[in-house]
Amino acid sequence: MYYNNDTLIYLDGKFVKAHTASTDLYSQTLHYGYGVFEGIRAYATNNGTHVFKSKTHYERLKKSAELINIPFPFQVEELMQATETLLEKNNLSDAYIRPLVFCDPNMSLAKPNKVSIMICAWEWAAYLGNKQLRVMISSICRPHPRSVKIEAKACGHYINSILATNEAKDQGYDEALLLDSDGFVAEGPGANLFFEKDGMLFTPQLGNILPGITRATIFELARKLGIQVKEGLFTPNDLLAADSAFYCGTAAEVIGIKAINQDTFPLAWPNSLGKKLQDAYAQVVRKTKQTASTVSL
Ligand code: PMP
Repeated sequence: MYYNNDTLIYLDGKFVKAHTASTDLYSQTLHYGYGVFEGIRAYATNNGTHVFKSKTHYERLKKSAELINIPFPFQVEELMQATETLLEKNNLSDAYIRPLVFCDPNMSLAKPNKVSIMICAWEWAAYLGNKQLRVMISSICRPHPRSVKIEAKACGHYINSILATNEAKDQGYDEALLLDSDGFVAEGPGANLFFEKDGMLFTPQLGNILPGITRATIFELARKLGIQVKEGLFTPNDLLAADSAFYCGTAAEVIGIKAINQDTFPLAWPNSLGKKLQDAYAQVVRKTKQTASTVSL
């Protein structure tokens, strides 16, 4: 359950009880998926709660809204502050935070007149668990970048993610992998992909994927650890020939992939670059004590 009778959410400048808050059933967002959202994590640290890359997430929320012509009459700094207060009021420290920008009733497919924002938060363990995943290459491909604004984290895009996830789970896999409309490897339904080959990391280039904030963090961590990362267009065969692979995302964090379809990766997870980055990521989000061998961001 995401909330109880005491849970507060932030709604258009006020903190209100989640179970009494309401929205209009004629909302353009509900009917057409015309809204944008974020997924942010907060971590308990020695110095209190740390909302990881809060500003970057709210800036992406703003950019997502702008990309699909939704007005964004909110201040990033105010939303960051509201998030801290929301966590305090709900007594949350390790939490997943979900801001959602949604529109008023408007059946005409025109731009909305009024835009609202709500932010809610709940405790959420790693979204894909912590066991290495068995992943299925989905028959569902990512939307064509000329059909949607692929870089926007827009509500409606997630029908694509839900379809791919349903298909993979129905066939007994843990998660899906989506190709782009040209058949190149793109991303997971809610996470970006990296794979390792001969001591180097590879990841799909921007253009057909969500520009993940965790993906960017992995680039920063890899640089600090002296790991080379190459972006490009990769075929499913490139991926199947890899030594190991992992997904990364705010909700999923860093999680190893054991197998794609029926092919198991040869490199054991504890010996992979993914494991090194998983450890470095866990340290950086929790800002744990730094030693010479740890990294900071
Ligand atoms: N791709 C998709 C489709 C996603 O939904 C997410 C989660 N937001 C990601 C990648 C990872 O993005 P981030 O690291 O910013 O959470």
